[in-house]
Amino acid sequence: MKNNRIETKCVQGGYTPANGEPRQIPIVQSTTFKYATSEEMGKLFDLEASGYFYTRLQNPTNDTVAAKIAEMEGGTAAMLTSSGQAANFYAVFNIATCGDHVVSCSTIYGGTYNLFAVTMKKMGIEFTFVSPDCTDEELEAAFRPNTKAVFGETIANPALTVLDIEKFANAAHAHGVPLIIDNTFATPVNCRPIEWGADIVTHSTTKYMDGHGACVGGCIVDSGKFDWMAHAEKFPGLCTPDDSYHGITYCEKFGLEGAFITKATAQLMRDFGSIQAPQHAFILNLGLESLHVRMERHCSNALAIAKYLEQHEKIAWVEYPGLESSKYYSVAKKYMPNGTCGVVSFGFKGGRPAAEQFMKSLKIAAIETHVADARTCCLHPASATHRQMNDEELIAAGITNDLVRYSCGIENVDDLIEDIAQALDTI
Ligand SMILES: *Cc1c(COP(=O)(O)O)cnc(C)c1O
Repeated sequence: MKNNRIETKCVQGGYTPANGEPRQIPIVQSTTFKYATSEEMGKLFDLEASGYFYTRLQNPTNDTVAAKIAEMEGGTAAMLTSSGQAANFYAVFNIATCGDHVVSCSTIYGGTYNLFAVTMKKMGIEFTFVSPDCTDEELEAAFRPNTKAVFGETIANPALTVLDIEKFANAAHAHGVPLIIDNTFATPVNCRPIEWGADIVTHSTTKYMDGHGACVGGCIVDSGKFDWMAHAEKFPGLCTPDDSYHGITYCEKFGLEGAFITKATAQLMRDFGSIQAPQHAFILNLGLESLHVRMERHCSNALAIAKYLEQHEKIAWVEYPGLESSKYYSVAKKYMPNGTCGVVSFGFKGGRPAAEQFMKSLKIAAIETHVADARTCCLHPASATHRQMNDEELIAAGITNDLVRYSCGIENVDDLIEDIAQALDTI
C-alpha cells in the first residue's frame, strides 16, 4: 500500500481485511477490552506488549484511520485527536515544556494563535512569532538556546500565506529542532510537507478531510525522520527514562519511527484524554475516501471564482495563492503544483458596508464560522471571528474590515459565480 499513489491511499490506505473480514472498517464501539490474566494486562501497562485496554488511550477504529493518514502523508506513525486544537497542543507539548521556547509563523489559525500566545504561555512556554515572508536573518534571530520546535501552516487560515517549507525546515534543523506543519488547508492530496523536510504534520480533520461539516477532529503524523537522540539534551522526555512507565526511554524502546507518537499516546492521551470517538473516526474515513476527488473540484472552483472576482469593477483586491497576481504564486506552484485549496479572500471598493451588503445577498453560499466544506460558505471576519478587534488591530492580524473569506464548495461553478454576480449587483 505504501507505494501506491495518493488517490489509492485515500481510498484503501490503513486497512487490508483478511478473508471473510468486513470490507468497510469496523467501528469498535467499546470503551474496554478483555484479557485472560492480570499478567497479560500488566504487560500493556508497562508498554512491554502492545494492545488495547481502554479507549481513552487507543481504539482499533481510530488506529486504522490514523494509519491511513500516516500513509497519505508519508509518515511512520499517527494518532487521531478529538479536534485540531488538541492535535496542535499535543504536537508542541510532547516536546516543549515549562521554560521552553517555540518559533511560530505569525499567520496561523486564530485558535492556534490563542493556544500559543495565551494558554501555553501560562504553562511557561514562550513563543516568538515570525512573518512567513521573513528573511533568513530574521528567522535566525528568533531562535534561542531553549527553542524546541518551529511551527507553521502550509497555507494559513485565513491569511492564505504560503509557507516556504524547505526554508523553515532548514532553519529548524540547523538548530537541532523539528519543524511542525499544520497541513489542514492543503491536505496531503495537494502537499506532503514531510517530502520537503517537515518532521511532524498536524491536521484539523474537521476541514477538508471530513469535508462534510459532520465531525470535529484532529490528527498528528510523525515522519519518523527527526533524530531526537542526536539532540538528546533538548528532548529529555523522549531520550531519558519515563518514571510513569517504570523508566522506559521512548527513543530506545520504540525507535525514531515510533517514539513521538507512542509518547503522545502513553502520556498525553492518558493524562489529557482528548481521544476522538470511534464513530467520528469512521465518518472521517468516509470523507478521506473521496478527499482526492473533492480537492480537485474545490481548487478548480476557487480558481475560476478568484479570476472572476479579480476582473470585477466592485472588487478592490483578491488573494488566492493559485492566482498569478498572488505574492505566493511561485512558492505555491513549487509546493502545490496540482492546486492549493478552495478558500479565496477578497475585499470591496465600497469597504465594510459593501462587504456586509454582499454577504447578506448571497443565496447559495451560507454565512458560517466554518471553511473547507462540500457546501460553499463564507465569513466576514471583522464582524464575526475578529469582532473584538478595532481597525488597527485588524490590520495587524492581516485582516482588513472589507475582507470576505469565501470557501468554495464542490457545487457547479457557474451556479456559484451567478450567485456572486447577483450579490455584487445589489451593492
Ligand atoms: C480549524 C483549524 C484548526 C483547529 O481545528 P479544530 O478542529 O477546529 O479544533 C487548526 N488549524 C487550522 C489551520 C484550522 O483551520
